[in-house]
Amino acid sequence: AVLAEGDAGTGSFSEGVDTPPVQPVLAVVGRPNVGKSTLVNRILGRREAVVQDVSGVTRDRVAYDALWNGKRFTLLDTGGWEPDAKGMQAAISAQAETAMATADVILLVVDGQVGATAVDQAVARTLRRSDRPVILAATKIDDSRGEGEIAALWRLGLGEPHPVSGLHGRGSGDLLDIVLDAMPDSPRDDVDLDAGPRRVALVGKPNVGKSSLLNQLTGETRSVVDAVAGTTTDPVDSLVEIDGETWKIVDTAGLRRKVGQASGTEYYASLRTKAAIEAAEVTVLLLDASEPISEQDLRVASQVAEAGRALVLAMNKWDLVDEDRRHAMTRELERALVRFPWVERVNISARTGRAVQKLAPAMRTALENWDRRVPTGQLNQWLSDVVAAKPPPVRGGKQPKILYATQAQNRPPTFVLFTSGFLEAGYRRFLERMLRETFPLTGTPVQINVRVRE
Ligand code: GDP
Ligand code: GDP
Repeated sequence: AVLAEGDAGTGSFSEGVDTPPVQPVLAVVGRPNVGKSTLVNRILGRREAVVQDVSGVTRDRVAYDALWNGKRFTLLDTGGWEPDAKGMQAAISAQAETAMATADVILLVVDGQVGATAVDQAVARTLRRSDRPVILAATKIDDSRGEGEIAALWRLGLGEPHPVSGLHGRGSGDLLDIVLDAMPDSPRDDVDLDAGPRRVALVGKPNVGKSSLLNQLTGETRSVVDAVAGTTTDPVDSLVEIDGETWKIVDTAGLRRKVGQASGTEYYASLRTKAAIEAAEVTVLLLDASEPISEQDLRVASQVAEAGRALVLAMNKWDLVDEDRRHAMTRELERALVRFPWVERVNISARTGRAVQKLAPAMRTALENWDRRVPTGQLNQWLSDVVAAKPPPVRGGKQPKILYATQAQNRPPTFVLFTSGFLEAGYRRFLERMLRETFPLTGTPVQINVRVRE
């Protein structure tokens, strides 16, 4: 069964139930020298060049992003392996098992000039057990003369053999059409292409300076355009210009009316905060820098992370911060940010207008990282380096193997690790740290899901 393991604690790892759809995976299987790499390069159009081996690491699986007829999929090249001590038979059945465990469609490649060997037959036998579609390709059929020979491949019991020349491309389009027909639909790309202003929530405890900041921003530009009107006098959202870019601040009606305080119910204010966070793409959480950081502030930061939105921490009232307070705050921040070491941070003063223009670059960075897509090739290059440097700890006498990774979604970046065993929470946090060291991901939560195949 394909399982996913949740994680108690960090909130970065989701439970299996609602893991987002992963783009479909095509695994390419076959003996060495039958022409797999050539075919893979043909399919990729060599856009993502074959990743060179990292010294000391045997690269036995490499995943790439592929695109055909507008459909995205992950191409898993099981190519570069070498038969180990147990021999080719064992190596290739392991390869087939991996493919069956993790792919949506399997492409078995045989050498059309050689025909089916005993090893090909053994793999075909294994693959016939698969509940995934298996497509048979006969490579090195560079012209029509070769085609007659491949009829014999029907006896592999995998249906029609499809002639193809990886070298010249002959038949590769037809082959891809067949492969894609067999695939489940890829998840919709959720990058909405409307170039409207990015949505910002301005949240924080009463009196931290939210309305002052809003006034500062709108006053500065003198060009508040009130967007979606709640009532004629009371706009729900406001468009403001910061640093040459227009942003939509959501729920400014709530800020202007000071709903939380007026109604006197904290519950209502927190609902409003939650709604604003969810309506926005990036949240600017305002803290009063002159006061100790509170639990309530951290709860809101958690809410943003859980909602999967980008986060900028703005330390307001910076004009009130003296030397002593600065030292105390550094220590408080260190402690507070253990859970959110990735936030974007700015020090501002809404009253004086100091550094308010720094908000825009911080929001931009956070959103850029929130939108980030790490190419599958780079992701797996990274994964193999990290795992080589520090393999997952043995659990229950077994060393879990991480087979490969893909990014299932962005906004926020969501990764899926395909593994042969459970990964300890500590190790997954280590992976997240390493991921953040390699790819620019400040200002955004990331999610790492683990799919275990036992
Ligand atoms: P892999 O080990 O299965 O990845 O095989 P390669 O892609 O490295 O190919 C092995 C050899 O077969 C290389 O010398 C390729 O040039 C050759 N080859 C691969 N595809 C074709 C093809 O379509 N036609 C011909 N004539 N040779 C091919
Ligand atoms: P809100 O409840 O979060 O909207 O906070 P307000 O904007 O109403 O600000 C609460 C109080 O803090 C007001 O008296 C503001 O003048 C003051 N205030 C806001 N920003 C600053 C700042 O940067 N520095 C100082 N010294 N006071 C500020």
